Amino acid sequence: MKTETKGSRSTEMEIEEKVRPRWIEVNLDAVGRNTRRVKEMIGDGVKLLAVVKGDAYGLGMVPVAHTVISQGADLLGVTNPDEGVILRNKGIDAPIFIFRPLLPGEEELVVNYQLISSISSLQQAERLSDKARIYGVKVPVHLKVETGLGRTGFLPSSIKEHADRLFSLPGLEWEGIYTHFASAAGDPQFTRQQFRLFQSVVEGLKKRGIQFPLCHVCNSAAALLYPEMRLDLVRIGTLLYGENPPGVKDDLGLESTWSFWSRVIHLQKLEKGMMVGYGRTHRVSRDTTMAVIPVGYRDGFGVDVTPRPAGLIDLTKVVAKIVLGYLGFPVGKYYVEINGTPAPVLGRVGMELTCIDVGKIPGIEVGTPVRLMARRTVIRESIPKSYCQQEKAGSSDTQPV
Ligand SMILES: *Cc1c(COP(=O)(O)O)cnc(C)c1O
Repeated sequence: MKTETKGSRSTEMEIEEKVRPRWIEVNLDAVGRNTRRVKEMIGDGVKLLAVVKGDAYGLGMVPVAHTVISQGADLLGVTNPDEGVILRNKGIDAPIFIFRPLLPGEEELVVNYQLISSISSLQQAERLSDKARIYGVKVPVHLKVETGLGRTGFLPSSIKEHADRLFSLPGLEWEGIYTHFASAAGDPQFTRQQFRLFQSVVEGLKKRGIQFPLCHVCNSAAALLYPEMRLDLVRIGTLLYGENPPGVKDDLGLESTWSFWSRVIHLQKLEKGMMVGYGRTHRVSRDTTMAVIPVGYRDGFGVDVTPRPAGLIDLTKVVAKIVLGYLGFPVGKYYVEINGTPAPVLGRVGMELTCIDVGKIPGIEVGTPVRLMARRTVIRESIPKSYCQQEKAGSSDTQPV
């Protein structure tokens, strides 16, 4: 274990190590094996860009980055340049790709830390080229094409308009061109349409004598579903972390890579008729025992990321779920797992404390571990992670932090 010696942070860590009230277990070996499985799927001719944005989808960016690189990922993908700086400072020398457009002033980081930028506007390209010239270098960039996600990138029409200027900027080296799908898992027709539009842009530029070594469009879902779209490179996050895009099946044998844990801190007798929690939303229907765990919505537990319903059918489903839940049916209800047995959350999840019914589970004491289900990417980043890695000793950064 790595322990700092000075400052309040070290005290915090000592406390955490002695009695961990909540923690995330991360299996880096599983991340590594998933990486190799994805590499086998795409074959030798296609590069793997491992997406480690969002703190590696909640698993810890730096340890995961070391692992995927050691298992053959060719590039790393992050959203922000400062994430790239952190990776460089931790000794990672693999190519690092920045997904989002740069803020004016961030060009310096990109040049100094040798990051690869996505270019979504002429102004951004000009600023970066200017900065590169000051340093006497050429920086690698990828042209982002907006084909239907409706977020960032050049519209195909504006590429034509700006091509002469863009491709003659002296500080840029056009290493790639790419687009991002809006609904790769759910809408094959629209995905193919985006792909055709992208291909037509690439073809059009080729006719003008402009070619890119790396053309890429696929995220996890598209790489699985459409082998013909893998082109030169695929950008993979979800699969590395052992999950499938919603509704997509694979036969890769991906392994689960993480689990989220807390402990029982209190056991409480409840009598039939009592109410539990804020808002008095839960009435106890029989005498039972309740356990309290020190986890709440502030930790990302019990937090739903509910997108706006995509249509009338979707809306009906959302409403039905709320109504059924109100009537007492077990839909949309949170469960935890104790000794492998599911136990329901009682009442509302609090900011930092949650109540669970353990009346039917024997052998529970204060201190008993509780496994939590939560959306990985919204779990509070400061919750300590415990890394398991046996296959290959990485750098010291893969030790528990
Ligand atoms: C997040 C992201 C990906 C990875 O998506 P997954 O579905 O998790 O594989 C790929 N490309 C871009 C541009 C992204 O932002």
